[in-house]
Amino acid sequence: MTPEGSALLRRGLNALRLGATDDQMALFARLLDLLQEGNERVNLTALKTEEDIVLKHFVDSASCLNGGHLDGDLRVVDIGTGAGFPSLPLAILRPELRITPLDSIRKKVDFVRATAQALGLDTVHPMVGRAETLGRSPEHRQRYDRVVVRAVAALPILMELALPLLAEGGLLVAQKGAITEEELDAGANAAAEVGGEVEEATPFLLPVLGDARTLVVVRKVRATPARYPRREGVPTQQPLF
Ligand code: SAM
Repeated sequence: MTPEGSALLRRGLNALRLGATDDQMALFARLLDLLQEGNERVNLTALKTEEDIVLKHFVDSASCLNGGHLDGDLRVVDIGTGAGFPSLPLAILRPELRITPLDSIRKKVDFVRATAQALGLDTVHPMVGRAETLGRSPEHRQRYDRVVVRAVAALPILMELALPLLAEGGLLVAQKGAITEEELDAGANAAAEVGGEVEEATPFLLPVLGDARTLVVVRKVRATPARYPRREGVPTQQPLF
């Protein structure tokens, strides 16, 4: 990472009131290299420049920590992690989290696994699969303290993908762009259907760039009915609301 990239990352993290040790900064620098190298072999992310990766992947992922919902020794699943976001920045900044980055695309998960190993992030255990499949498997259903998700689907779809995986009392932390009242209302209705309650939808601006973001936090308040999640693809094709 160039000195400018490093200064940008520190500026972004400081704006989120997050510090980073020199070791954490070195891990981010290595992650940047691996992502840029990996992108030359397989198409992992549309973001290619240092500035874009630092701000739109690293700082943007770190903003999931706003509000302290991911503090502590928690079992976390990251649905639709892609090239490892927000999982990898979260694992660097919060080594006490036990994170399962999940994606249905094997080559992306292979990259996340190899990268976590190269960075020595042994709290990260990537999996290939669909959230709908995990949500029906006894090994994963209602087993997680937190679901994190960034840039995967509209709120009503996310509710059906995420809530079945949460233990009662657990939280979905969804990092979204600007959302409409309609999406939030539909998300709240879907949440109620699958055992959740929207606790907050907090708008904020991404540091440095000023892009609009919303952190939506949903609590699992009762068991998800056995009929959810519906079979693979149905939550997306026929959203609950
Ligand atoms: N979260 C990453 C990020 O913020 O950069 C990746 C976002 S990418 C736009 C969406 C990813 O979600 C894709 O890699 C896709 O394969 C994955 N995905 C979509 N639906 C999924 C599902 N039902 N189960 C698992 N992965 C899913």
